[in-house]
Amino acid sequence: MPLYEEIEIEDMDYDPKTMTYSYPCPCGDRFKVSLEDLWDGEDVADCQSCTLYIEVIYEEVDLPPLPDDSDDEESTDKEKTLAKDVTEAVQKLSVNDNKA
Ligand SMILES: [Zn+2]
Repeated sequence: MPLYEEIEIEDMDYDPKTMTYSYPCPCGDRFKVSLEDLWDGEDVADCQSCTLYIEVIYEEVDLPPLPDDSDDEESTDKEKTLAKDVTEAVQKLSVNDNKA
């Protein structure tokens, strides 16, 4: 498979419905790579209609988050703990404010 080009992810089109990035292929079809693949470190988008492919230049911070799945439970717990800490900190702050 010949490498057609290296493409910045900003130059690609993102379809949130199919969670797929795509880019026009010279053959008339499109190079496609799913958001999940990008999160997995798969940076190659290939064309269904010919043998060309592109390499996607991206950072994980550029990617939209994946939709919720069971892997998120741990981080949700962390967020809850964080929220509790913040609430307590705010309560302490308001107590100090009342004294002042
Ligand atoms: Zn093509």
